[in-house]
Amino acid sequence: MEELGFDRMLYSIAVGLYEKEQCTDKYPYSSYLSYGINMFAALALKNGQKDVLSGLHEAAFITDYAAKPVKEWFAGWKKEFTEKISKYQLFQTGALVILGENQTFYITDECADLNDNTENDMFNALTQKHIYQMMKMLDPDQYTSVRKFIVEHPICSEKEIRKYKMKCGNPDIWNIIKEAYEDIPSDSYRCPKCGWTMRLYGVQTYCCNRSCTEEHPDIEHLEKLDVTDNMRLKHGVMRYMCLPGKLELDIKARAEKYGCKTALWPERDRYDIKIIFKNEEIWAVDAKTHLNPYALAESVRSDRAFASVPAAKRFFVIPEKRKQERKDYCDICNAVLPTETVRCITDRELFRMIKKEAENDNS
Ligand SMILES: [Zn+2]
Repeated sequence: MEELGFDRMLYSIAVGLYEKEQCTDKYPYSSYLSYGINMFAALALKNGQKDVLSGLHEAAFITDYAAKPVKEWFAGWKKEFTEKISKYQLFQTGALVILGENQTFYITDECADLNDNTENDMFNALTQKHIYQMMKMLDPDQYTSVRKFIVEHPICSEKEIRKYKMKCGNPDIWNIIKEAYEDIPSDSYRCPKCGWTMRLYGVQTYCCNRSCTEEHPDIEHLEKLDVTDNMRLKHGVMRYMCLPGKLELDIKARAEKYGCKTALWPERDRYDIKIIFKNEEIWAVDAKTHLNPYALAESVRSDRAFASVPAAKRFFVIPEKRKQERKDYCDICNAVLPTETVRCITDRELFRMIKKEAENDNS
């Protein structure tokens, strides 16, 4: 199996698991998941792993494989084969789900990373891609306005929504907002980290972003949400638009603090942030929040659009925290990027460079 096929198998499985986690009523059956499992079964057959095939139905696949790191899926397979696939970027992917009680599961941030990488056609049916397409029809200013509103309001009161709708006066924007938000389930709290809903299952906490619950939030002091007056972003919009958006707004604010001009999502969202120094030098920034550096490397490797953006410097920027968790994070990405045109750095490194450049500018 070539790397492209291997990637396609993992992407299908990740999209399928996401669909299933989202809403079991709406997606009682995920064609992506069964497509991915079938590819895995075919691979096992081709490699003479008959024991893998016995009882490989969906539920068994989720507990026996999806809940384990990808490299463990191939434990005991022929050495020649595992040596080959161990060189693929996505071979380094961790477990895709965490198992809960009563046959439930939650997708991991690593699974969310893979969903983030998938092309529109595979992910199209899911909410946020649909909203994204509706947004693309807006003029550039309106596009920026509605995207900024979404990033700044993971939870939103009816009054704030009304006020925003009145301010825009464009029915297309109303439809986008209507599509982006949903009712809040009862017994929800505000996540102290990302601002979306946090729910409790016994003493276990759950937010759309697994890393929000890793630091064990103080359950006693969570703010209970008034569910009659508030709406929340739908899961996909929160996960794939709002969470990375926080880093984007942060970079914008810091660049402005150093006296630069900025534009969010310029050229119809060709990239995330355009930074313009006083001497008119332009830097282009694409913010990335992938947990797994190999998943990001896989995503940026083929991103020729960003490498050709007209700018003096181009950066994929990750949160500093990622590099603290994994020292070689940027190196893994930089190894697949063309040195001259685009680099992967952390937000902290970017801020230091902007500051230096802005100071040179003023002297
Ligand atoms: Zn959260």
